[in-house]
Amino acid sequence: MKVEFYRHSLSEEDRQSVLECLNGLFLTTGSYVAQFEQRFAAYLGTGHAIGLTSCTAALHLALLALGIHEGDEVITTPMTFIATATAIIHTGATPVFVDVEADTGLIDPAAVDAAITERTRAIIPVHLYGHMCDMKALHDIASRSNLRIIEDAAHCIEGERDGVRPGQLSDAACFSFYATKNITSGEGGALTTNDAEIARTVRLLRQHGMSTEASDRWREGYYRHWDMLACGWKYNMDNIQASLLLPQMRRIEAHWQERSHLYDYYHQRLGRIDGLAMPAIRPGTKNAFHLFTVWLPAEQRDSLIEFMNREGIGLAVNYRAIHLLSWFRDRYAFRRGMFPNAERIGSRTVSLPFYPRLSAEEMAYVCDVLERGLGQ
Ligand SMILES: *Cc1c(COP(=O)(O)O)cnc(C)c1O
Repeated sequence: MKVEFYRHSLSEEDRQSVLECLNGLFLTTGSYVAQFEQRFAAYLGTGHAIGLTSCTAALHLALLALGIHEGDEVITTPMTFIATATAIIHTGATPVFVDVEADTGLIDPAAVDAAITERTRAIIPVHLYGHMCDMKALHDIASRSNLRIIEDAAHCIEGERDGVRPGQLSDAACFSFYATKNITSGEGGALTTNDAEIARTVRLLRQHGMSTEASDRWREGYYRHWDMLACGWKYNMDNIQASLLLPQMRRIEAHWQERSHLYDYYHQRLGRIDGLAMPAIRPGTKNAFHLFTVWLPAEQRDSLIEFMNREGIGLAVNYRAIHLLSWFRDRYAFRRGMFPNAERIGSRTVSLPFYPRLSAEEMAYVCDVLERGLGQ
């Protein structure tokens, strides 16, 4: 049997939407993007959504819109994808890692509090695997020390904790529509915010700081000079991406339901295996269920991946603690032992196949092979 790590769930409706876009005239940022932004903001209950080329772009522009620059420090977690930290570095600021909670892998609010210096300007929590961080605690800490919060919500469109959803207790939340995310346009991202000024700046910076977008000039039907108001980037989502995302918003809750059933199955079935642990989920949480990860004995993790790959099962590692990757080690002199919880998770974690099109037989097969690999 072959069980891929991920299979997308694109439907006939999604293909039709893209065809309709391609049969139209206007391919770059235009009416499909505007519609998607409206739909996305409404789903999340936030004031503004801005379509971008990636979550990395969203993190970068959020930091710039908050005025983060060289000499500033931004606190984040080493248990994440590298983009969380590289976005900070691209502004000239310094990423300051703090350890995560041992049982969830989420950034530890007490460790955040302890890492604040007079240079600290912002915090980037990451809602790992779809489990939201303690935004109320982080919001309290940020308010007390006059810090901004940008959420890395790449895993967490559908999540909620203590009645709070991504983007509601922060300055901005950043989302990814990369190929394996819960909704996808191959590549793509968005930023949400309740702050009109941040929204305005991000819109300006996503397209070279130009005073009008191509769609304005096209709609008006006559040529008009534009001005350059800021030195921006080329981070604008296009109509083709938005046309693919739009119909997926209609199925987002149904797909979440399906993944929540898969989660229940895996959780029950794998809970009986010795030597295997799973991340805890805090009460009062709606997990977005982006990834299903298990924590294996560190000394067996890599050989188990090899074994399961040979048995036809696709796997991923989300993530090895990023402060130990070569570039970060060289640049900032990070060493093993600095963030023991993140390191422990990073040496034990494996993500299993987890998506709506996964069948009951395939899930049972994944569990059987994992059990066999562990010698049980
Ligand atoms: C996928 C991901 C990103 C980057 O998203 P892109 O859209 O590929 O830039 C950032 N952070 C986390 C936690 C992610 O999983």
